[in-house]
Amino acid sequence: MSNTTNELFRNDSYLKTCDAKVIQIDERGVQLDQTVCYPHGGGQLGDQGKLTFADGTALDIIDTQKDRATGELIHVLAPEHLSQLTEGDAATIELDWERRYKLMRFHTCLHLVCAMIDAPVNGGSIQLDRARLDFDLKEPLDKEQLTEKLNALIEKNASISMRWITDAELDAHPELVRTMSVKPPRNAEGTIRLVEIDGIDLQACGGTHVSTTKEIGPMLVRKIENKGKQNRRITVVSAD
Ligand SMILES: [Zn+2]
Repeated sequence: MSNTTNELFRNDSYLKTCDAKVIQIDERGVQLDQTVCYPHGGGQLGDQGKLTFADGTALDIIDTQKDRATGELIHVLAPEHLSQLTEGDAATIELDWERRYKLMRFHTCLHLVCAMIDAPVNGGSIQLDRARLDFDLKEPLDKEQLTEKLNALIEKNASISMRWITDAELDAHPELVRTMSVKPPRNAEGTIRLVEIDGIDLQACGGTHVSTTKEIGPMLVRKIENKGKQNRRITVVSAD
């Protein structure tokens, strides 16, 4: 049987800490009853942080992963630390917020890139120092023009909001899924999260976002590569 973790980051990506209880420990890592840690997925790196127990023991969370087969959310610790844990232990999770915030800014920036280019998305990835999206597109793109347009969208300071729709509503509007390779997560209640950047973008997405576009900060389209005859890869970096 798989365990369910209450994923607090889904409703509030700004949560930096929470209490948690150990529900399972195995060779993959530790599962907790709730968490602020986003698991690697949708091209975004998994979170890192610290797990502190009542006796003061503090263990590093070196990665957060989702078991694709079971849906279980795994906090990855150094193997030698796992033996220090017992099911039922109470702890506090502290997110490496500086790292996550960088990922949130890039992730939200990719929504803007998505909104600027009218083509299906083949895939993407978000690192700490850059993010990229691959578009199913033959036509060449202009780096300077895209940079200018992207920063104009960021400067608009548009607000970002979320709402939940049912599987049936999403199936009736397949255009809300922009990526061909990554399907948005569906939860047990059969609902999916829509992320709206006011007046700019609306799509189903399970990632973590900032609350206004200005938080993204100035960005630069660093390169546009041709990866295959129908694949344009766009890489953005922070300009500040
Ligand atoms: Zn997103």
